[in-house]
Amino acid sequence: MARKSAFSSEYSWFKGNLHSHSTRSDGKLDPPQVVELYRSNGWDFIAFTEHEFYSYWQELSSDDFLVLPGIEMGLDIPKFGRCHHLLGIHKSGNGAKHLVKAPPAEKDGMAGAQEEIYRLGKEGYLTIYCHPLWSRVEWEDISELRGFTAIEIYNHSSEMENHSGLHLDHWDSFLRRGIKVWGVATDDSHHWMEDYCGGWIMVNAPQLTVADLTEALVAGRFYSSTGPTITDFGLDGDEVYIECSPAKAIHIVTYEPWGRSFYAEPGKSISSAVHRVRGNEIFVRAEVVDSNGKTAWTNPIFLDKKA
Ligand SMILES: [Zn+2]
Ligand SMILES: [Zn+2]
Repeated sequence: MARKSAFSSEYSWFKGNLHSHSTRSDGKLDPPQVVELYRSNGWDFIAFTEHEFYSYWQELSSDDFLVLPGIEMGLDIPKFGRCHHLLGIHKSGNGAKHLVKAPPAEKDGMAGAQEEIYRLGKEGYLTIYCHPLWSRVEWEDISELRGFTAIEIYNHSSEMENHSGLHLDHWDSFLRRGIKVWGVATDDSHHWMEDYCGGWIMVNAPQLTVADLTEALVAGRFYSSTGPTITDFGLDGDEVYIECSPAKAIHIVTYEPWGRSFYAEPGKSISSAVHRVRGNEIFVRAEVVDSNGKTAWTNPIFLDKKA
């Protein structure tokens, strides 16, 4: 059987950050400074996602750098220390609001977050559930949420601030129930500390446009990283395969039956792995860990056949 890759070799790779703040909310740098910082570090795109404030800095885009229209909405949860944050990224740019305050959420808790997902969707925005560990939410707070494109699995600012940046349990809780939600790594950069260029996504898309990037986001045609590169990931019959930059470990994660971890011998590295699935896994995804402990995460492939 032919290999079925999660990516297209016809498309290009674009590196970007879907979550950043500027002086328009609680960030330290103004929008042109933020764009210059990311551009000079090799990023291809960013989204400004100010708190309860729409922005679309089209004039800061150029041939080789794209600014996406975005917003971050916050909602209360009537439990101590918990909240919901959601990113909205406009899917085409057409009709995206600029320098407009968002209406306050009418409800709180899970029902309020669900309404916000629907409200942003009606305005043409895809939604991403933010930093669940930082927000101190548990499964009971998010279990019924549907209709959002992705969940943050790594938030660099949360990690730098108080070691609450990694959110894999929340993600797998959706995936193991067959709920298709992609995982994104972001910076959530505010620039009061070194919270930038630490978590990103690599998007496999035809061109650097708002429509092409968001179409790839919705399709899950991207991976997340804090360091390693993933060059291919897919299925070859009943084998899942991955190819990547030199790694000390590659983890194939499956539910409910376990996947398998592969390790390089001491002083050596590995750059591929193949794992035969049993056929009764709900999904399979992979994690690549390099010698510095940096990680890359593929999106899940859902297996249709059930034992
Ligand atoms: Zn937030
Ligand atoms: Zn934020």
